[in-house]
Parts: sequence; C-alpha cells; structure tokens
Amino acid sequence: MSQLHIKSLSKQFDHHPVLRDLSLQVEEGEFVSILGPSGSGKTTLFHLIGGMMEPEEGSIILNGKNINGKTGFISYMPQDHALLPWRTVLGNVILGQEIHGRKDEEQARKWIGRAGLSGYEGAYPDELSGGMKQRVAFIRALMSPQSLLCLDEPFSSLDEFIRLDMQKWLMDIWEEDKRSVLFITHNIDEALFLSDRIIVLSGKPSSVQKEFRVPYLRPRDEQIILSAEFLEYKKEIFRELTKYVQHD
Ligand code: ADP
Ligand code: MG
Repeated sequence: MSQLHIKSLSKQFDHHPVLRDLSLQVEEGEFVSILGPSGSGKTTLFHLIGGMMEPEEGSIILNGKNINGKTGFISYMPQDHALLPWRTVLGNVILGQEIHGRKDEEQARKWIGRAGLSGYEGAYPDELSGGMKQRVAFIRALMSPQSLLCLDEPFSSLDEFIRLDMQKWLMDIWEEDKRSVLFITHNIDEALFLSDRIIVLSGKPSSVQKEFRVPYLRPRDEQIILSAEFLEYKKEIFRELTKYVQHD
C-alpha cells in the first residue's frame, strides 16, 4: 500500500478547470517531485492534499484514510515561508508541534543548530536573511509529526549559490530519517538532484503527463549535476515540460 494515493482529482475555480483527473502515488519513504510551469495548479494540489480546500471530484488517501477536506494530516511548508513575525525563531519552529500538543524545545534547539542557526533562537524573522527564513520554515515542517512532508517550491526565491547549499542540506537531513516527501518545483536540476521520481504535469487543466524515475544512488554527490548523463535526463524532461507551456 502506498502512503499517499491521489485518485482522479479535479478542481476548478469559477468554472476554470485547474486540475483534471490527476492521479499519483507516493510510496513510504519516497522523495517525489512535481514539476510544472507556473500556474499549472501545483500549489492548488497542495491545498487539496492539506485539506484547505476540497476537490470537485476524486479522492486523497493517506495511509489508507480518505483525507479530502481534512486539515492536519500532512506537514506542509508553503510557498512563502509563512513565519509568524511576532514569534522568535524558536517560537516559529515549535509551532508545528504546539498545534499537536507536543512541544519539545530541546529537539527544536538541536534542529536550529543543525540548520546553522545557533545563536538565532531568540531572533525575529525580519532579522534573518531569505535563506535563514527558509531554513526555519523547513525545520518547522520537519518537526511536525505527520508522516508526509509537502514542500512547495522551498528554494525558488533563493539565489543559485544558497539554493545549492540548501539542496545539499535538505538531502543530508532527509537521508537521516527518509520521510516521504512531495516536493514542488519548476526547476529541473533541482528535481533531478533531489528526487527518486519526478512527475511532470501537463498544461491547464493539469494532470500527470509523464513520470521519470531518477536512477542515481544515494547519498548523492553534487558533482552529478555536471555530468553528461545528467544533461541528457534534463533534456528529456525539458522536452516533456515545454510541450505544455502555454504562451497566453
Ligand atoms: P502553481 O502553483 O502551479 O503556480 P496555482 O495552483 O497557484 O499554480 O494556480 C493555478 C491556477 O489556479 C492559477 O490560474 C490561479 O490563478 C488559480 N487559482 C489558484 N488559487 C485560486 C483561488 N483560491 N481562487 C481562484 N483561482 C485560483
Ligand atoms: Mg505555486
């Protein structure tokens, strides 16, 4: 049984269909990326999985349970980091646990240290750089107790160098506990470097157009992104992706 099983999901806004008959699965401990152009409904898909809205059709099954329209079942890092400005780094990090009534400040401090943010426990979000804020948001999601971690373009606002650093950091952390991850991105390199499997969405209304299994073993070395083989995979995915980019 796969951990997340999305069956024939359809969603529209004011009669404009965004998702149509979208089905996908995530296995236990799998890292799956969803790749699609901007406006293809990726964030909408996460809002549906997170139960913030309901689909017109289809079902979302997590660990055998239908979670359509139900919140609190996934750990979610939204596209904007969504840190609370009036809470400190520590206060923001433990928020995900607080909601579930199990606060562990010691663990939070440990993770803040692992994110390279020791000494910033008492700082407020507007005292942090973009990369630091992303890390805080990421640890908050990581410390939430749910078994599926949904990350919506967590690195898209970062410049290339910090982005690569963050990707390596995420990989290291993920390889320790191998939580199931659904990762949204519009960056092919990032998807190839991080994922076990890549799902390419078609244009609007979106459904799953193609899936690629990424053959690289783990732990992965960042040097793979410079190889000829990597470029070949990238081209293949790029061709698939650009079939559906609409010029409107
Ligand atoms: P992506 O994350 O792939 O960039 P989104 O899921 O944010 O795409 O948006 C997909 C489409 O749905 C866009 O055309 C957007 O304008 C529309 N949309 C998203 N959320 C809403 C909403 N709450 N009400 C109306 N339209 C929406
Ligand atoms: Mg989005």
